[in-house]
Amino acid sequence: MLNAKKILLGVSGSIAAYKTVHLVRLLKKEGAEVKVIVTQSAQDFVTKKALATVSENPVIDNFYQDENPELWNNHVKLGMWADIMLIAPASANTIAKLNSAEANNILITTFLSARCPVFVAPAMDLDMWTHPSNQVNIQGLKEKNIHIIEPASGSLASGLEGKGRMPEPEELLSTITHFLKSQSPLSGVEALVTAGPTYENIDPVRFIGNYSSGKMGYALANALVKLGASVHLVSGPSALKQPKGLKSFVKITSALEMLEACENKASTVDLAFFAAAVSDYRPKAVATSKLKKGIDTLNTIELVENPDILKKLCATKKENQTFIGFALETDNVIENAKAKRIKKGCDYIIANSPNAKDTGFSHDTNLVTLIGETLNKDLPLMSKDLLAVEIITQLMPLLKHVK
Ligand code: C5P
Repeated sequence: MLNAKKILLGVSGSIAAYKTVHLVRLLKKEGAEVKVIVTQSAQDFVTKKALATVSENPVIDNFYQDENPELWNNHVKLGMWADIMLIAPASANTIAKLNSAEANNILITTFLSARCPVFVAPAMDLDMWTHPSNQVNIQGLKEKNIHIIEPASGSLASGLEGKGRMPEPEELLSTITHFLKSQSPLSGVEALVTAGPTYENIDPVRFIGNYSSGKMGYALANALVKLGASVHLVSGPSALKQPKGLKSFVKITSALEMLEACENKASTVDLAFFAAAVSDYRPKAVATSKLKKGIDTLNTIELVENPDILKKLCATKKENQTFIGFALETDNVIENAKAKRIKKGCDYIIANSPNAKDTGFSHDTNLVTLIGETLNKDLPLMSKDLLAVEIITQLMPLLKHVK
């Protein structure tokens, strides 16, 4: 559920700090990336070494790096890095500083720099919790849209009974996952994306291919993951980094391999984007050793047609599945793309042309038109990353399985 989510945990001085080792383990087990900041007094209750070990990241406790005091820990970068900031346990002292911007430690400066949702889990004795001075700060944080995770009731470190305990790590995890789920409109949706070119071997060292970089498909996969979908990416040869948080990643070379990988997933997914530039033909025979110069038969390479993966899978597409193809057209872009959508049997087709400036293969930007039975929407020129989000946002209300 927390697939590739970046969680910044701030730990302040409370006995409950010892529980953060378990909390970090739970977050990591759910697939989150975790970085931890500790205040000086937190270190009386939990060690940096333990938190560094479980988070697999150095733990930060001051403005400068221990190993190299010339270098500062960039709290602005750290704040921007996070998808969620969780301050647990939050002592009354830290809560007061969070509310008043008393930025005299790196936890507070990072909090002030963070643009992500922030959760605060107070932990203190019952009278400290109910004290009007503390309650004013709690109210102040609520008014600043900080999410307060109410303390639990029970026996407290002081020996008293009452409200003030930090909720158990399992409960903190569940609060975060519920929140993220509510922010993930594609949670529970399974999606397939094809990306990149295919290479069709002539011999062991030569192939027929195309200039596709895979950028559009990878951007779609990334955006789908961010919106909460479980994503299977089937990619041809591409230099791009594997997106984080995928459910599966299959790297293939040829169209036949891409077909096989897609057939394994197509029946179970709710949604599929076919962004790959699949080679239409492949050599009829692949030489088993490198072809030498001066062979007469090499004047021509006999080709056979590759299966049309999109068309083939659309033929068995179920009622509640939405399949989306791409059409790269040089002439009569919209008319040809409309005809292609019908010929292939897909729900939507995304038309683009390599003729326009900064569009098509290998470029970072693209200019597309979304086409469906009753849809014809031009999107402005934008980066493929932004375009991926825009395409999904436009299509979301039309997806058959998403209410
Ligand atoms: O026919 P054309 O190659 O223009 O169709 C483009 C669309 O069809 C893209 O969505 C592409 O991923 C898909 N396609 C495919 N298998 C092929 C050729 C194209 O899935 N053999």
